[in-house]
Amino acid sequence: MLNSRVTTSLLQQPTSAVIRRAFISNSSSLSTSSSSPLVRSGPFRFSTSSPSLLRHCSSNSNPPKANPSSSDKSTWRAMAENDISRYLRETHDKVFEHNRAWAAEKKRTNPDFFANLSAGQNPEYLWIGCSDSRIPAEQITGLEPGDAFVHRNIANLVCNTDLNVMAVINYAVRHLKVKHIVVCGHYGCGGVKAAMTAKDLGILNPWLRNIRDVYRLHEKELDAIPEEEARYNRLVELNVIEQCKNVVKTAGVQQSYAQNSYPIVHGWVFGFNDGLLRDLKIDFEGMLKDIQKIYNLTESEN
Ligand SMILES: [Zn+2]
Repeated sequence: MLNSRVTTSLLQQPTSAVIRRAFISNSSSLSTSSSSPLVRSGPFRFSTSSPSLLRHCSSNSNPPKANPSSSDKSTWRAMAENDISRYLRETHDKVFEHNRAWAAEKKRTNPDFFANLSAGQNPEYLWIGCSDSRIPAEQITGLEPGDAFVHRNIANLVCNTDLNVMAVINYAVRHLKVKHIVVCGHYGCGGVKAAMTAKDLGILNPWLRNIRDVYRLHEKELDAIPEEEARYNRLVELNVIEQCKNVVKTAGVQQSYAQNSYPIVHGWVFGFNDGLLRDLKIDFEGMLKDIQKIYNLTESEN
């Protein structure tokens, strides 16, 4: 028999809240307790209270009841399963509805829009951003389809052993001949926060280790920032700058710049609080010159 209190409580919530609770209750690998104490691990101090990527993206989520009874649990499970099924169908169908409306609107305002898209791409920008769902490159910049070649991963990293990002940069520079490469991070990055916690995150360990390396490179500056949020924010900026350097280290970028005077590499950071992009104004030419002392790949083999 259904527990009326729980049933009423579940029915009064939007479906998305129910499903988020159901998902979150089954997803603990990136979650940490909000009551965890400040962790001091080595030279840096970061709280373990924030690095849940899932929770980070689910601002409306409510934690499940601390100690639900067994009947609560089965009620919850039954309700969640029904809601999940309906929610999945609705969220799937919604995308296609939006897609049809978007295509119709594009065609209405520009009858040649899809003929032009079909003809090929000639993007001005390569965008390397975080996978975070709140930073859609085109929407926050006003760019249209065809304007930006986009690569996103957790914490906008550019690792020279990552075949994916290396292939994207190579194709964008050598074949699409992009004029600008943007590395865009964001304040409040769950990946950056997760990287700085004293916790085994499995397959994410080697990926996020790159951010710990950024911390190590800038340890003195970061350790001197007493306030935790300000320290995270600066780490986000320094991570963007280090990833810009990794872009500059690639042969494609160095050779293209020597021949064509492009692409230019930019480091930007997006803020959730005001929706604005901040240009870190990296000195691209100075960075290139500096990097080529050791990483000069200007001359091609042929
Ligand atoms: Zn992020």
